[in-house]
This record gives sequence, C-alpha cells and structure tokens, in this order.
Amino acid sequence: MHAEIVMIGTELLLGEIVDTNANRLALALRDIGLDLYYKTTVGDNLDRMTEVLNLALDRSDVIITSGGIGPTVDDVTRQAVADATGRRLVYSTELEAEIATRFNRFGRPMADNNKRQAYIPEGATPLTNPVGTAPCYLSEDVNGRGCIISLPGVPRELDHMMENTVIPLLIERMGGIKVTRVRVLRTCAVGESNIDRGIGDLMTEGNPTVGLAAHIGQTDVRITAKADTEEEADTLVAGMEERLRERLGVAVYGVGKVTVAEVVGELMQERSLKIGVVDTLTGGQLARDLVESGYVDLVTTDLAPANLTDASKHSDAAIANPTDVEEARSLAVSLAERVTPAGGIGLAMIGPYKDASTFVALNGPGEARLFERGRNYQDTDHMRRWLVVQSLDWVRRTLLGQMKSPVDWN
Ligand code: ATP
Ligand code: MG
Repeated sequence: MHAEIVMIGTELLLGEIVDTNANRLALALRDIGLDLYYKTTVGDNLDRMTEVLNLALDRSDVIITSGGIGPTVDDVTRQAVADATGRRLVYSTELEAEIATRFNRFGRPMADNNKRQAYIPEGATPLTNPVGTAPCYLSEDVNGRGCIISLPGVPRELDHMMENTVIPLLIERMGGIKVTRVRVLRTCAVGESNIDRGIGDLMTEGNPTVGLAAHIGQTDVRITAKADTEEEADTLVAGMEERLRERLGVAVYGVGKVTVAEVVGELMQERSLKIGVVDTLTGGQLARDLVESGYVDLVTTDLAPANLTDASKHSDAAIANPTDVEEARSLAVSLAERVTPAGGIGLAMIGPYKDASTFVALNGPGEARLFERGRNYQDTDHMRRWLVVQSLDWVRRTLLGQMKSPVDWN
C-alpha cells in the first residue's frame, strides 16, 4: 500500500503561501510506515484537479488532499473528487444538519453558501471535523482503484483530522501499525560523490533504505528502516549502520544532529587538551563554533597573526604579504607552533595571499601538518563555513590519530 498527497490551492501554486501542510502530512505518513510516492500541487481548477486525482488513483492506493473544501465557489475539491472517483455529488441533509449545529455552537449564523459543504461524493464516508466547519470525507473509487481522503487546508484543522481520524484509519487499512526508524550518520570532508561511490550499492536496497543529504563540507547518510515492531526496526537500522561504518570509517564523525565542533570539543575535553587558533580567514567562526559546542572553555584566538609572530622570523610586512609561497608556508607552520598550548593543538589558518592561496597548519598532538590550496576561502560565507568544517575535521582526525596523507580537500 502506498500513498500520494495532493495539495490544493492556487496560492500554493503561485508561491504566495508556503506549503507547510505537505511537510507535516509526509512526516505523519512516514511515522506510520506508509510509503509516500508522489506529491502534487494543483490550483483551484476543476479540470486540472480532476486530472491530477485520476492520475493519482491510477498509481496510488490512498490519496490525501489538502484544501479546497470550504464553502466558496473556488472550493472545487468535492466536485473533482466525485468526478475522479466516478461518483455523483449528492446532498446530505445529515451533513447539513451537522454543519448547522456546528455553526450554532460557534455562535455564528450559517450562510447559504455553507450548504455547498453538505454535498459529498455519493457513497463517501463523512469524517467528522470537530475543529472546523468543512466536512471531510473518504471516497472510494467506483472502479476500485483506491480512495481519496479530503482534508481542510487550514493547518490546525488538517492536523487535528490527521491525528484523530485519518492516521487510525490508515493504520487499520494497512493491517496494523508499522514502525519506521531513522538514523542519520554524519560524515565530514569526503564529498557527496565519494560517499556515493563508496556505498552506492547499499543505496539501492529496499529496507532499510539509505539516502544522502549534502551540507556545507559534510554529507548526511540517512538510514530508514520499517518493521512491525520497534525492536525489528532497530535491528535493521543497526545492521545497515554497521555495514556503512565499515565502508566509511573515520569519515563518520557522529550520529543525529551532532556537529563537528561538538565532537572535537568532546574529544578535547576527554583528553584535557587546549587549542590555540590563529585565524585570518573565517572571521572567528571556527573559534565561535568551538566555544558554542559547550565543551571548550578557553580558546586562545587571535585574528592578527602579527601579534603572535616571532619577530626574528617574520616581519610584519612579510605576514601581510609573504613574498613567496615558501614564506607563507613557513609562516603558517610557525604560527601554529607558536599558539600551541602545552601538549595541545595549534591551528593556523592564514591567507589569502597574492595568488589567492590558503594555508592551514596543524600542530600536535604528535602531528604537524600543512594544507594549502590555491583558493581564497574568504570569498563567500559558504566557503568560510566550508573551511571551518574542514579544518575542524582535520583536528578531529588528528585527535583520533587517523589523519591520513594526502588529505582530500574535495
Ligand atoms: P476553508 O474552509 O477555510 O476555505 P479549505 O479546506 O477550503 O478551508 P483552503 O481555502 O484551501 O482550505 O485554505 C485555507 C487556508 O489554509 C489558506 O488560506 C491558507 O492560509 C491555509 N492553507 C491551505 N493550504 C495550505 C498548505 N498546504 N500549507 C499551509 N497552509 C495552507
Ligand atoms: Mg477555501
């Protein structure tokens, strides 16, 4: 059994309102393990809506619509659903009475056009909507292709209907609840295409499914498993996680929402290490991330390398504009050494220089490395963020003794 959602409203189509309903509908379906294969948005147009619903009935078992069941002329969902499911619209005096009662309860007079809402596809099951006035319903296709459940567009009403009526109904139709478990492995500094190469075969398997989401400097690997019980789903997830970790190794830095800065902070705290940073590139972002991780109390940081430079080695002029790449390299290395606290880590991120070179030097524990690239990482916020994530990951790998050479800047 699989589902499809059809979001109705010209305002949605034109981008005048943001479709937050689709998001919550999709999550609600995911949570009960009902596969959602398609999402369509269509305006308040009878012909196109009928066309979309017909197509949906051809390919899906359950279609949920959102919107267009109000009392106004442009609320044509009722008619479109009746047409698509091959049924007439019929007037229900019971529904009219129900609507009238609700208006009474809200202390409002029932306008004539509200009577429109008393029409439903013949044979449809009305679904009581206690928070609004628009009646919802479930209409089975006359040719047995599936059913359409029509819900209001008003988010509060939609949520109430989903939670109290539709979800229990869907679970029953599915023959019992299925559990979905999701686990996100966070990877760093490998690049989406490399990850794809490494685990592509696992991504074509059915249950659990594995999907990727790329962010700045990192890629999330998402495992989704479905089963009848939580234990079974957890076992499926754990099995896939093990296979993924075998392939991805140290690239997996954490699980869930954890950031690289938090992982680095935790590693440093465990080892009672301090870090010294010279950073002319990220506007202090790297130090901020570390402090905000909540683990790092004290960060020696200085945005002006001149203050930290051994004057006998480098003149101010040379720092501002090293005469050659060799000088910039040795500057980065000496700055990293200079800011390294006893037994801790020193990180110097400097540039950009004439040729737009960027130098990142890392010192200790037990490692001293220099990374360089002919690129200006100050150019955009995106690049600065990328450099922060990348540099923090180098620190992480160094702390784990897993820094490999040559390092992939990707
Ligand atoms: P009503 O009886 O209020 O007319 P309806 O079922 O006809 O309800 P719509 O007219 O389509 O629903 O939408 C009512 C309001 O609900 C919209 O003006 C909009 O503010 C909100 N809404 C509709 N669809 C969505 C959506 N997909 N995401 C978020 N908000 C929505
Ligand atoms: Mg409406």
